[in-house]
Amino acid sequence: MQPAIRVELHPAVIRSNIARIVQETKVPVIAVVKADAYGLGLRDVIPAIDDLVAGYYLFQPREVIATAGHRLTRKSFIAAWCDDSQVDELLSHRIRPAAWSVDQAMRWRSCDPVLAVDTGQQRFACPPEQIDAVLAAGGCREAFTHASSVDQARHFQAITAGRSLVRHAAGSSLLEIAEARFDAVRPGFALYRGSVRVTTHLIDARDSRGPAGYTGFIAPRHGVIPGGYSNGLAAGVCMVNGTRRRILEIGMQTAFVELGPTDRAGDEVTLLGDGLTEDDVAKSWGCGRHEALYRLARCGIRVQV
Ligand SMILES: *Cc1c(COP(=O)(O)O)cnc(C)c1O
Repeated sequence: MQPAIRVELHPAVIRSNIARIVQETKVPVIAVVKADAYGLGLRDVIPAIDDLVAGYYLFQPREVIATAGHRLTRKSFIAAWCDDSQVDELLSHRIRPAAWSVDQAMRWRSCDPVLAVDTGQQRFACPPEQIDAVLAAGGCREAFTHASSVDQARHFQAITAGRSLVRHAAGSSLLEIAEARFDAVRPGFALYRGSVRVTTHLIDARDSRGPAGYTGFIAPRHGVIPGGYSNGLAAGVCMVNGTRRRILEIGMQTAFVELGPTDRAGDEVTLLGDGLTEDDVAKSWGCGRHEALYRLARCGIRVQV
């Protein structure tokens, strides 16, 4: 039986995204694999890219521990929020905690902590005036900030200068900005964009007889796909037989799609890929591209191709 929704993961696309980023930025890539690699599956993603990246970044130690992520690579994981994690647990999973207070830095000194610097986000990061105290307490050799503007990257440059630290600031949105590059870049979305193709098929197709569905939508012809909001889908854009169409109404496990005259039950419906980008879907759903990618990556049965 074919899955109701098929989520194809194309590791070759992730690899070529990384190769392009390395070529353009000329610095190593720390791959952001938080939230199970943006929904794509950390266990599939890490082995596919491990030779191309310098290390990994994610949110919590639990993400490494629960997936045995440390067995998939010899490289280390920077974890943003280690809370009260134990030193031996961090060490045995090759997790380097982000530290932003003297207390944390002291506690995690043996784990090679990374200084997190606040340049505007105002969370999980050290205020500029405490940088030297935290660096000293943790013996930190590396510092990063979660910059979302060039000004924040410049500020990071200024407040961390002259301390011979390995530094990184740029996620996907600042990859093009030379000033934001420092010693590495730390993208997530830019690694994965274009690497997921999501398809389903029409389980019904018919000419409409007046208003249809719960909402009484009007369309000359419509079909049904076996996916709804319980899968994380929303009304918005899709493609049927190479033509952009609308998902007109979303139900719990099914959705209504507008159709052209020749579309038939059994035909494939593309929810992402084949020219339909994460940005296209995000726009039609009224959300960000990260959220669109995550929801689509999670909406069906994942297969590697
Ligand atoms: C999520 C995250 C990134 C990656 O962001 P993208 O926009 O997906 O590239 C980089 N750094 C930190 C601290 C993050 O939390």
